[in-house]
Amino acid sequence: MKDNITVQTSCQDTHGDTSLSVDEAKERLAASVKPVTSVESVAVRSALNRILAAEIVSPLDVPSHTNSAMDGYALRGEDLPAEGTAEFNVTGTALAGSPYEGTVSSGETVRIMTGAVIPDSSDTVIMQEHVERDGDRIRIDSRHRPGQNVRQAGEDITTGSTVLHPGKQLIPADLGLIASLGIAEVKVLRSLRVAFFSTGDELRSVGEPLGKGDVYDSNRYTIFGMLSRLGVEYMDMGVVRDTREDVENAFSEAARNADAIVTSGGVSVGEADYVTETLDKLGTVNFWKIAMKPGRPLAFGNVGDAAFFGLPGNPVSVMVTFYQFVRPTLRRMMGITTPETGTTVHATCLGGIRKRSGRTEFPRGFLEPQQDGSLAVRSTGKQGSGILSSMSHANCFIVLDADTTKVTPGDTVTVQLFQGMI
Ligand code: AMP
Ligand code: MG
Repeated sequence: MKDNITVQTSCQDTHGDTSLSVDEAKERLAASVKPVTSVESVAVRSALNRILAAEIVSPLDVPSHTNSAMDGYALRGEDLPAEGTAEFNVTGTALAGSPYEGTVSSGETVRIMTGAVIPDSSDTVIMQEHVERDGDRIRIDSRHRPGQNVRQAGEDITTGSTVLHPGKQLIPADLGLIASLGIAEVKVLRSLRVAFFSTGDELRSVGEPLGKGDVYDSNRYTIFGMLSRLGVEYMDMGVVRDTREDVENAFSEAARNADAIVTSGGVSVGEADYVTETLDKLGTVNFWKIAMKPGRPLAFGNVGDAAFFGLPGNPVSVMVTFYQFVRPTLRRMMGITTPETGTTVHATCLGGIRKRSGRTEFPRGFLEPQQDGSLAVRSTGKQGSGILSSMSHANCFIVLDADTTKVTPGDTVTVQLFQGMI
């Protein structure tokens, strides 16, 4: 069951004679899609990478009992000596999961382990390393403070407080946090479904022999990887041959089953007539020229209810356009509302880079800390849009904005880390 994801393409779109800036394209995409709304309940473990649909409110205090932060001895803070030493009788033991049932009177102490409930009438724990023990008696000096080494009930989370907000993609710590509240099931948004296929008569699937001029279809592998990491449900529809029937069937099937369709190849002007024709018939599509390198052409629109992203064919362009445009748009459709943090840093560029002004460029880089701890980045070498090894050997994009005309060694540049994104 699909709920409505309305895709609205702006009336300002053109068939490609004006260039959009990277930021304009991002804004238009964000404004054109809506998040999924259907909610389902899943077991906590199945909620990893899913998008939280309702607040998690704590039904209890965490910790639920005031307990010891150390192995040591529990006693009354008022018994601590202001100077000199004081002696106490050890009257019992409190273990994590096995509380001391009695009350601690003045002059008494209870041997206590980390996590054990603080016995009644005591409020202070002395570390065992600070105690001289002699049989059933201990002696302590005057360096201690009332209340020390004790974790108060509710100090982490209080009953009724909101622990997690909707719109968060759940990470391992969230699963633990939810479990720590005794909650077994969580409400999440239904998974976004994304169909993808490649177009191009020269494409062969892995396992097939290569004829003259053929290439193996690598884009379906990178797109598979990028979608998997994002946490969507994906549908791999293979290579679609350039016939009217195949193209039309592929788009219809994709639109019936998916919220979004990602294709690669065939978006250059004058290419793949059946693709354009079919898209015009089944939906609305605009071909955008984006002032960027690599990855200039991008088709965006809708096929039925599904959002459509037509990426360029060149393997590096596919990845750059996916990360810059498709990923943030799909995140929005998935219902993620938390901003992505920690993916952009500044670093010293170790080499020079030539660049044309008026477009954003995304050379691939390798970012590494220097001996003094500062960050430095170098380009991964040849940057052709067909050179996929430039992505494979990289750990970041060097983001050079439209105004930049060149980078001189030693300049500070903005770097977008793959870590976190991929
Ligand atoms: P296109 O955008 O269709 O003109 O393709 C540009 C270049 O990317 C051509 O050299 C294509 O052979 C190549 N290409 C297109 N699709 C794929 C694919 N799925 N895997 C690998 N290379 C591709
Ligand atoms: Mg092609």
